[in-house]
Amino acid sequence: MDIREKLKAMTFPELVKFRQSLDEDKEYDEWDQAGDELRQRQLAVIPRPTCCQAAKDYPAVRFYAGFDKGKLKGAWQAGRPEGAEELAGKVTRGLTYHTSRPEARFCCYCGLHLPKLVPKKEFPEHTSRVTDGGYSCDTCGGSQDCVCLPPEFAFEPA
Ligand SMILES: [Zn+2]
Ligand SMILES: [Zn+2]
Repeated sequence: MDIREKLKAMTFPELVKFRQSLDEDKEYDEWDQAGDELRQRQLAVIPRPTCCQAAKDYPAVRFYAGFDKGKLKGAWQAGRPEGAEELAGKVTRGLTYHTSRPEARFCCYCGLHLPKLVPKKEFPEHTSRVTDGGYSCDTCGGSQDCVCLPPEFAFEPA
């Protein structure tokens, strides 16, 4: 079986385990491809606008989620083109969710309201929960190397 097909057939936890079992130096190709597959799965669960084709093909807003003082929050935010932060006089780094950023409300292509998303009743499995301000992930224990699905996965349309 082709490595790609093998990776695609794995469940998310299987994929994480498989990648962690590989030796980056000795099995670089497999390690690299497993990393790509992992990244694809993480991106695939982030909610996207579905109002128009332009919004699907050229994402201008992104749903960001994260924990703020232990509470799960999320919002649509406009993209961050290179240099925009500098123009605004601030350079931010680290956490993906910034409470200080304004919320995006409309699709800039078709003008429709962005869908309202609310936290799922149950916080999903294998999903990152960071409650210490960004140092480590409670779910996997990783710091720089969190291997979970992103917290945006914990949201669904209202
Ligand atoms: Zn649109
Ligand atoms: Zn994690």
